[in-house]
Amino acid sequence: MATEKKMSLTTKVLIGMALGIIVGLIINLLGLNGEGSFVSEYVVGFFHIVGKMFVTALKMLVVPLVFFSLITGVIGIGDINALGKVGGKSFALYMLTTAIAIAVGITLAATIGIGEGVNMTSATASFTAKEAPALSAVLVDIIPSNVVNAMALGKMLQIIFFSILVGISILMVGKKAEPVVELIEIGNEIMMKMVNVVMAIAPYAVFALLAKAIANLGLDLLVDLAAYVLVLISALMIHLFVTLMGILKIFSGMSPKIFLKKMRETQIFAFSTSSSNATIPVTLRAVTDRLGVNNSVASFTVPFGATINMDGTAIMQGVATVFIANAYGIELGISGYLTVIMMSVLASIGTAGVPGVGLIMLSMVFAQVGIPVEGIGLILGVDRLLDMVRTAVNVSGDAAVSVIVAKSEGKLDESVFNDPDAGKITEDDLDIPDDVEREMAEMVKETHDKA
Ligand code: ASP
Repeated sequence: MATEKKMSLTTKVLIGMALGIIVGLIINLLGLNGEGSFVSEYVVGFFHIVGKMFVTALKMLVVPLVFFSLITGVIGIGDINALGKVGGKSFALYMLTTAIAIAVGITLAATIGIGEGVNMTSATASFTAKEAPALSAVLVDIIPSNVVNAMALGKMLQIIFFSILVGISILMVGKKAEPVVELIEIGNEIMMKMVNVVMAIAPYAVFALLAKAIANLGLDLLVDLAAYVLVLISALMIHLFVTLMGILKIFSGMSPKIFLKKMRETQIFAFSTSSSNATIPVTLRAVTDRLGVNNSVASFTVPFGATINMDGTAIMQGVATVFIANAYGIELGISGYLTVIMMSVLASIGTAGVPGVGLIMLSMVFAQVGIPVEGIGLILGVDRLLDMVRTAVNVSGDAAVSVIVAKSEGKLDESVFNDPDAGKITEDDLDIPDDVEREMAEMVKETHDKA
């Protein structure tokens, strides 16, 4: 029987993305999206519902997935020293890449001299600073006083802390804990299957998310701030393609080309959702199943990275600092810029990867170096769109560091990394095999009859 070549999920997601942007642009350019209009109420309204349901479904997976996979990971490593090494290496690499990222942003923006001569009265919206967490509070806050609360609020560092502790305690209990180990491993497998199920609707959801965002925002905002936007996007691309891929090649020897190809889907998810946190299930899946990183490393590095590692955000902060400082005619000097780098790296630790958090961190940096926080109003309008691009860079950084750490710990399956088809979702993945269906039905019937 001739088998028809099925389109891969990545291709479908790419098509969804392109169509979403086109449809969004058409609605925006034709001005069909006026308040109360049919298109705004029903068409864009429908896109909103589909997109929102999808992002919510992804978020729904995050806490149980991190919980099960991290405990499985700790048991898999089975040795506290090795665990410490994975933690130490990933933390160091996350901080290093964030610092390089912001330096790239500052250097490029300062060389080009963006923001000079910008009239501050053109700030389109006013910005009021939100409270950013102090580092001391972040440290104390790593330990949850109530686990249920931590999970309910999705506090990632607390969930990571608790899960690692559960894993270590299971190892200490030893043989007696075997049933729990099995339960948690199966739980992990079930959650990973659930990721596949949610991802099956990704092409449609990506379409809806992008059509809605572009229909509402349009792209003309980007033109108004063209210099800022171009420098920022160039810095993001330099960081992704040169810095991160260079670090990947040097530290792990793995192919950047394969890495980028296998990360494309995850980048589109990050781009569409503007949230590293909501993308955790997809990143974790790509890093383990497609790039061959053992779960014992990825289950820690991925959620940890989504929380503390934001290279794209750091680049935005560097470029925005130069842009706004220049617009105000403030001379920061080398020491000022070094403070900015340090503050941004610290600020990134406690703030989770959710949409728009980069601006909150930026206000904290500005307060330190004496740039008026209201200056952020100048870039507020374009931030929603740029957030999409930088989130894609954020998740790429998390994945690159995961590969490097795994390679250095002997936990990278290179045959998976190099196999172009590894971990591709096919329609069979979503099938429930007939015999399983039958067996399960019989099992339920038996239990029922007994009762
Ligand atoms: N949206 C980004 C993320 O989730 C954070 C930010 O830059 O605002 O990674």
